Amino acid sequence: MLRKDIYSFVETEELATCSVCGNEFEETEINMTDYELDLCSTCEKDHKITSTIQRGYTMLTDKELELISHYDYQVLNNGMSGWLSNHQYKQIFDFVEILSKRNSAIDQKVIAIFKKATISGMEYLQHKDSTFIPEIKEIADESLIDIESCGKQYKEVATEFMNSYGMEDYLTKFTNNIGL
Ligand SMILES: [Zn+2]
Repeated sequence: MLRKDIYSFVETEELATCSVCGNEFEETEINMTDYELDLCSTCEKDHKITSTIQRGYTMLTDKELELISHYDYQVLNNGMSGWLSNHQYKQIFDFVEILSKRNSAIDQKVIAIFKKATISGMEYLQHKDSTFIPEIKEIADESLIDIESCGKQYKEVATEFMNSYGMEDYLTKFTNNIGL
């Protein structure tokens, strides 16, 4: 590289400010995607520790918590079959992986519910266009029943599950907002 090229390279390097300590860093050293705050690596560590103490569970990023909240909303608002037909299953592996980090009894319960629902959802998709054949219609109907029952199972544990992550489940939030 020519000297002049090196200079222009250095000059184009973007700086970013950490929202917590206010120091400037090269953009690549600041995490600007996982949290609402832009955090340098030192402040990110502190931030994780603080949230862990506050929430009493394994360190998760804001983004990961958002995904948990997203699925809670999908199931409680649109129903288990609602999110399955909404192409939301693409992120289901991320969701399961996030819950596996803490992997407590309630996480395992929720993972099992969503796995069962996903399998039943795939089964339903495979068969839904051939329901003119009675045997296939039977399989498709059974898958739908399984999906519905997964939805009910989630509803039963939703409050405990979301509270355990320091959040509120969608139905509780909804009920509180309309002042019931
Ligand atoms: Zn910082």
